[in-house]
Amino acid sequence: RFITFEGGEGVGKSTQIRLLAQKLRQKGFDVTTTREPGGSPGAEAVRHVLLTGAAEEFGTRFEATLFAAARADHVAQVIRPAIEDGRVVLCDRFMDSTRVYQGATGNLEANFVHALERLALNGLTPDLTILLDMPAETGLARARARDEPKSPDTRDGATVSGQEGAPVVPVSDRFEREDLAIHETRRQAFLDLAESEPDRFRTIDADQSVEAIASAVLIAVHSVLPK
Ligand code: C5P
Repeated sequence: RFITFEGGEGVGKSTQIRLLAQKLRQKGFDVTTTREPGGSPGAEAVRHVLLTGAAEEFGTRFEATLFAAARADHVAQVIRPAIEDGRVVLCDRFMDSTRVYQGATGNLEANFVHALERLALNGLTPDLTILLDMPAETGLARARARDEPKSPDTRDGATVSGQEGAPVVPVSDRFEREDLAIHETRRQAFLDLAESEPDRFRTIDADQSVEAIASAVLIAVHSVLPK
């Protein structure tokens, strides 16, 4: 089974994936947790370029193509083999993030996004996508609070090294430069996607306690678990 988690900044995806993985393991399921951009060695190499904003200057098409290359590798090397092994795969962001970040707010044509998506997925679609939804302002405040205690260039716990002579771009820079309006647009774009594919999506109010969200996630996930 393949379950993806989507939503804006600071909605609590990684916390919920961790809690869900724990609960599913207690129930005896074999669980693989992974994330995008990244999740396989090839894709993690591209993650660095994507998150520092280094790809941005070459345009959204270039950036989206890198996301697709990373996703194709992640699907082929990690996600599909795990599913074929009977594992439950929980993925932090997937194709819907590209539809929203590069499509809706990157102004990339839908045809281009869909063509890349087909190439990267090669026939795979999530069985369930959990959308964690909360007001953009609340999510951003939470994401900033989470990032502050860390040094600016280690947002992922990985040090960002610059090209020789090039300045090191802190991972959080890109995200700090964006204003609230773009995050609100993304929230709405995620909600529109969920509405257009009600069978695949479950939208959960993420502006409640961690425990309340976790039990809503567990209920949503039950419908796709192997019996
Ligand atoms: O919230 P998370 O740590 O998953 O954030 C990863 C970052 O990667 C997002 O803030 C976003 O800027 C970026 N991203 C993107 N396009 C995607 C997926 C992620 O721009 N398709």
